[in-house]
Amino acid sequence: MSKRAGILGFPLRHTISPIFQQAAFDHLGLDVRYLVWETPPAKLAARVRELAAPDVVGFNVTVPHKEAICPLLDGLADEAMRVGAVNTVVHREGHLIGDNTDTYGFLQALVQHGLNLRSKQVLLLGAGGAARAVLAVLAREGVASVVIANRTLARARELAEGLKGRLTNVLTCPLEGEALALHASRADLIVNCTSMGMRHGSAESETPLAAEMIPSSALVYDLVYNPPETPLLRAAMRAGASTLGGLPMLVYQGARSFELWTGQKAPVEVMFRAAQRALTTGS
Ligand code: NAP
Repeated sequence: MSKRAGILGFPLRHTISPIFQQAAFDHLGLDVRYLVWETPPAKLAARVRELAAPDVVGFNVTVPHKEAICPLLDGLADEAMRVGAVNTVVHREGHLIGDNTDTYGFLQALVQHGLNLRSKQVLLLGAGGAARAVLAVLAREGVASVVIANRTLARARELAEGLKGRLTNVLTCPLEGEALALHASRADLIVNCTSMGMRHGSAESETPLAAEMIPSSALVYDLVYNPPETPLLRAAMRAGASTLGGLPMLVYQGARSFELWTGQKAPVEVMFRAAQRALTTGS
């Protein structure tokens, strides 16, 4: 019997996960269709019940359901509990178990880039779901300090509060002004977890930091993957800094999800090629 996997979120018009996940299933000759399950918040609980069907191997979860889905599942893996959010659900013996592979994707992309997080000073822009996953990684990789800068300062403070006991040296600041400029000037690594610069988003042409605020010695890592060259990454290049876009993280988190669903090694190169093709053809 043909099986199903998919992605659950709202809206989902611009997701490229179906393209690179289907490429992986097809490459390994697995009879699985990866579908798009666009689901508004009011229908989330009903959809999750439907997806407990025996032919569903599992699914990805994206904005805005990553936190809201937690109490609707049969259980959470340790990583999902640590992060407080689910981006992957695995259907195992009749149970839907929530996991988080964003953390793996974030770190794997950095490792491939050649950056070791130990003792680094990190400026994290944003305080939503992605920032939560990134902070879980920073907390266990031994960074020296983290500054969380967010448009809504209260959300940054809430995240910092939740890190007590796991990470010392956490500060917060607004996403503008002198404090931001000071923290940017001291950062070894700047990670953008806001949706500024995202294609089709409301701040598509904006960058959270201007080139003058970025030290040339920093690595600027933008989680936004579409477009591949965001306004922030362009500013970083002008400043002479190193850059890393969000596509490797997206592919690595998806590869880990694929492995959880199938128990097989993900064809990462095939997934990369499919994802890159999808972006260049304007998906
Ligand atoms: P989210 O939970 O909705 O959080 C959005 C964040 O962006 C919040 O900090 C929000 O600030 C900030 N923001 C939104 N619009 C802004 C604006 N106009 N000016 C300043 N700040 C703004 O979203 P998320 O899940 O964390 O995702 C954030 C981004 O990361 C998205 O672009 C997503 O595509 C990307 N992402 C990439 C990967 C990957 O694999 N590469 C994985 C996950 C996420 P407020 O708190 O003030 O609203």
